[in-house]
Amino acid sequence: MPRKMLQFTHLHQSQPDKRSAPERGADFAEISLPFAAEQAGEQASRCEQCGIPFCQIHCPLANNIPDWLMLVAQGRMEEAYAVSSATNTFPEICGRICPQDRLCEGSCVLEQSKHGTVTIGAVEKHITEHAFAQGWVKPPRPGRELAASVGIVGGGPGGLAAAEALRRKGYQVTVYDRHDRMGGLMIYGIPGFKLDKAVVERRTRLLAEGGIKLVPSVTIGRDLTLAELRARHDSVLLATGVYKGRALDCPGAALPGVVPALDYLIVSNRVGLGDAVPAFDDGSLNAAGKAVVVIGGGDTAMDCVRTAIRQGATSVKCLYRRDRANMPGSQREVAHAEEEDVAFVWMAAPLELTGTGRVEGVRAVRMHLGVPDATGRQAPVPIEGSEFELGADMVIAALGFDPEDMPALFGEPGLAVSRWGTIEADPVSCMTSLDGVFAAGDIVRGASLVVWAIKDGRDAAEAMDRYMQGKARQAAE
Ligand SMILES: Cc1cc2nc3c(=O)[nH]c(=O)nc-3n(C[C@H](O)[C@H](O)[C@H](O)COP(=O)(O)OP(=O)(O)OC[C@H]3O[C@@H](n4cnc5c(N)ncnc54)[C@H](O)[C@@H]3O)c2cc1C
Ligand code: SF4
Repeated sequence: MPRKMLQFTHLHQSQPDKRSAPERGADFAEISLPFAAEQAGEQASRCEQCGIPFCQIHCPLANNIPDWLMLVAQGRMEEAYAVSSATNTFPEICGRICPQDRLCEGSCVLEQSKHGTVTIGAVEKHITEHAFAQGWVKPPRPGRELAASVGIVGGGPGGLAAAEALRRKGYQVTVYDRHDRMGGLMIYGIPGFKLDKAVVERRTRLLAEGGIKLVPSVTIGRDLTLAELRARHDSVLLATGVYKGRALDCPGAALPGVVPALDYLIVSNRVGLGDAVPAFDDGSLNAAGKAVVVIGGGDTAMDCVRTAIRQGATSVKCLYRRDRANMPGSQREVAHAEEEDVAFVWMAAPLELTGTGRVEGVRAVRMHLGVPDATGRQAPVPIEGSEFELGADMVIAALGFDPEDMPALFGEPGLAVSRWGTIEADPVSCMTSLDGVFAAGDIVRGASLVVWAIKDGRDAAEAMDRYMQGKARQAAE
């Protein structure tokens, strides 16, 4: 049924239903139920069709949100899918895991005017799920085949978005990944209760059907050198992400029972995918029956606390040195964690991890927010005499990620990196200091978001196309 727009004046915002906290705490299935078609159409019709759409301006992909909302409201679903997929390679993934409260929905004028944002993410997911059900989502099939070939290192969202765009143009594309499955952090980092693994694997299958060669379990820099890859392909994209977890810097950090967040999440995701994982079975990376303390306040910390709940931890606490308003993680994810019985200990930092033989507790200190530093952020300062202890059988360090030593890993001292270790790529040409070698995603911008990796991958694909076309023209002259 075609609907008029601007219905926010009498239609209240309604997000898709969530499964109850006790029900979802018992499994790793996604927590949000899908929109019914009627509800998606109604919610889309709340949009004001702004002349200057702040939702679109604040979307890294500049998704044409007002247009696809109008098309959904009018029941023109195939066109809505065409518009939504024109700017986004994986809209059903972004619909699920973008922190919309910090991007499009947080900027929607209806949110700013206290009417409640248009439920953009849920409608985006609905459009693409409907398109999959109708068979409208096709593998990337080029109109013509080109001889030139591209090697992509890293099968995360950055690498896969670039692969898809280059394949559509006709290039022969090979994606190499050191993991045994493609998807990067979408498969081994982000837990299934946020992003069902079948959703990622459905995309990977389509890419393979479109002729993209996916080569898992190959580490570039060890099994194959970057020099060999450059000789094999006309251009190379580095989309390797950032994987060096920041360690806890306090006494006791090396005690058994203190684990890095990503090791913990990878194992949990592997178990969910049906792999046999000894570190899970022997309890070293399994929170069942344990008092768990997670240290950190970002999205990774939120994923760890919620994973521990599902594994059957006896208690789960999250220790963060700033307050709720100043944490880097999504407020939506904090609310989910609180519903699931996670206790937050705001404004506290660890002084020492205690225990004999293995971790038994965290000695921490209360903090207050001091004067703003050079970035404008208030620095946390310990409050003298406010030390306290938390019991813990397992402590998970979720303090963020840095890049590995990429020039050393690739045996390419000429590969320029920033002082943070991220690869330096020209913002326009996306090329690194090595001719014909491009870079995209977290390895260039530092730990970020899936939507930014998709944007970077798509931009890099355009730049690589320009580069290879230029080379072909030079060769023809
Ligand atoms: C726990 C966790 C939760 C997150 N939750 C969210 C979220 O909810 N929403 C969101 O938007 N973002 C989230 N993020 C961030 C998001 O996952 C990343 O920003 C995004 O995946 C980066 O994409 P990428 O393609 O640059 O790298 P990655 O996804 O990291 O992929 C890089 C790939 O390169 C491969 N690789 C690395 N080195 C080599 C090598 N030498 N040879 C071969 N292959 C190699 C890796 O195996 C990996 O598969 C989360 C991150 C983490 C860690
Ligand atoms: S900002 Fe909100 S109301 Fe305006 S176009 Fe975007 S979704 Fe619609």
